[in-house]
Amino acid sequence: SKGAAMVTAVAQRLASQRRQVDEALSSLKLTQEHLGYVKSRMRAGLEAGLKSQGPSPVKMLPAYVYRTPDGTEHGNYLALDLGGTNFRVLLVKIRSGLSRSVRLYNKIYAIPLEVMQGTGEELFDHIVQCISDFLDYMGMKNTRLPLGFTFSFPCYQKAIDTGTLVSWTKGFKATGCQGNDVVDMLREAIKRRNEFDLDIVAIVNDTVGTMMSCAYEDPQCEIGLIAGTGSNVCYMEELSNVEKLHVPQNGKEGRNGGKVEEECTEAQAKDVIGREAGEEEEEEEEQSGPNVRMCINTEWGGLGEDGCLDDIITPYDSAVDRDSLNQGRQRFEKMTSGLYLGEIVRQVLLDLTRRGLLFRGHVTEALKTPGIFHTKYLSQIESDRLALLQVRSILQQLGLESTINDSIVVKEVCGAVSRRAAQMCGAGMAAVVDKIRENRGLDHLDVTVGVDGTLYKLHPHFSMVLQDTVRALAPQCQVTFTLSEEGSGKGAALITAVARGGPARS
Ligand code: BGC
Ligand code: MG
Repeated sequence: SKGAAMVTAVAQRLASQRRQVDEALSSLKLTQEHLGYVKSRMRAGLEAGLKSQGPSPVKMLPAYVYRTPDGTEHGNYLALDLGGTNFRVLLVKIRSGLSRSVRLYNKIYAIPLEVMQGTGEELFDHIVQCISDFLDYMGMKNTRLPLGFTFSFPCYQKAIDTGTLVSWTKGFKATGCQGNDVVDMLREAIKRRNEFDLDIVAIVNDTVGTMMSCAYEDPQCEIGLIAGTGSNVCYMEELSNVEKLHVPQNGKEGRNGGKVEEECTEAQAKDVIGREAGEEEEEEEEQSGPNVRMCINTEWGGLGEDGCLDDIITPYDSAVDRDSLNQGRQRFEKMTSGLYLGEIVRQVLLDLTRRGLLFRGHVTEALKTPGIFHTKYLSQIESDRLALLQVRSILQQLGLESTINDSIVVKEVCGAVSRRAAQMCGAGMAAVVDKIRENRGLDHLDVTVGVDGTLYKLHPHFSMVLQDTVRALAPQCQVTFTLSEEGSGKGAALITAVARGGPARS
């Protein structure tokens, strides 16, 4: 009959749609074999970065942090947190001994897009204006506080208090900063304002702050992970493996667009170690031996800049890269972090819609708008408790009119994109923990990872998938993931305290 023929036609159309959607999604699915490749490429990237004197996809930047905190740190510190979801200024009060505690006071400030992407001077003037407001608010303008500057971008350091910006990442692109020492830029901005003074003691990557903050509670914490707006890891590496610290660079080209950089010699490194170990040396000795390790900021987000991930990169990833501020760079980060996951989802939805498989084939303005899918929405859409009707209402808020069938597909797309991200992070982490284990000649390693970042904290499945992947790919390691509260505040203050090598006056 005619009715039956129509039903069959609809069923066939749905089945064919289903097939095409599945096909699109399958390009985002990674097999165990793929994940094994990601792990070994990450491992190769870590090794190459440790050796390389010039640029390398995984930068492996020495952080001049030689030990995790031991609880004797105390004093009042100012901390800045630039480069994550929010810009913050913090006052951190650390007490040691019986009253051991850390108290934080902070204020969040907006960084307008035109400041993020204006000139470096404008950016640092804005930062100093925020500090000024905060000091007024706390009534502390006349105290010259030691400052730890959490600056969540790749910096080439020669000491704990210098940092040359290698390149901006994420949403930043202020001019006149790349290749310059951002600590100097901050000092100059403070001078320009001529209203207060600060003692800038340390520049800190957010991964390092996260590791230190977690290590304050758990001495087994020797890794810091950020899965947020950006993606990155730091860990404690054997000093003897950091070959780039051992070779003097007499006038050779540095890594920053032809700028000549002096590398630190072994003797210089030892000098810093000697000075920093100072009085604590005896107590330290039995815990971890004399300073034989250094924290390395891996900048693992750069993996793939040499094409080593091309076999798993999809056309959706290429589109996201093409539209980004740093085309060709940070390929691993663009597949794993919050700033980009929503964009990958949008690219998949655009493709499916153009092929008539979604939203009745209707490409709306909303769908064409970069950045509409914040991590927040991905997390909501993928929440298990959420009924499909609610998915539909979230899409509606984003200006997307969907059927229930559309909502199912959108949820699947979000799931595929975030799952791949978590698995890739897990594969990268498996490479890091196995490296640490092999460094120490162990058959089995127990280690804690301090973690921070909106993706890890807010997404309903990211952390589980990450942990499952590490377990599968690094079976000789027992890896505990601990949420690290306030890495950029508490962690930066602890590093500042450790770097000053003794009590802070306060
Ligand atoms: C930066 C890293 C940072 C990470 C997480 C990346 O874009 O290059 O330095 O640790 O984001 O904030
Ligand atoms: Mg942060």
